[in-house]
Amino acid sequence: MEVKFCMSCGAALEDRDVDGTIRRACTKCSFVHWGNYSIGVGALIARDHRYLLVRRAQEPGKGYWTNPGGYIEQLEAIGETIRREVKEEAGVDAVVRRVVALRDQPRAIHNVYIAFEMEYVGGEPKPDGTEVDAAGFYTLEEIASMNVAPFTRWLLHAAANAGSHGLHADEEPAVPLAGYGLFRA
Ligand SMILES: [Zn+2]
Repeated sequence: MEVKFCMSCGAALEDRDVDGTIRRACTKCSFVHWGNYSIGVGALIARDHRYLLVRRAQEPGKGYWTNPGGYIEQLEAIGETIRREVKEEAGVDAVVRRVVALRDQPRAIHNVYIAFEMEYVGGEPKPDGTEVDAAGFYTLEEIASMNVAPFTRWLLHAAANAGSHGLHADEEPAVPLAGYGLFRA
């Protein structure tokens, strides 16, 4: 599908050769339409060797148990988005510890999914009743016989076997960088 108007200023776009590739580019400002992307974030939260799962009440994946998650917002830091999603979907307070896994899905809308390990802070699991209709902490043994989405199984395997690996939030970067959320190995 061809985009016709600039997402920054609303002027008409034109075909333009940008470093050898024809792209849709704005006739009035510097905007270039690089592609269609979406970014998802997910949470893996353990409490007493049990992982927080929610049961999807909506398509896609209705009836499947998954880890809590959602899509990022334009002007919200990803760590804040996942903290909010976990609270909204499952009623649990948790804070980001590290990035433990990433999924790349190149397709019509190219999706990247970032999975965080989060530390449980408080709250008992309570489903929001809209996006999810059940929520709870479950052992890997219990999860083995539950209707868990395959990708969630992969994430749980990654989280349970991450050891000390992963990208940790860098709160005091060695090089001062204002306005960035930084994660590093
Ligand atoms: Zn423009």
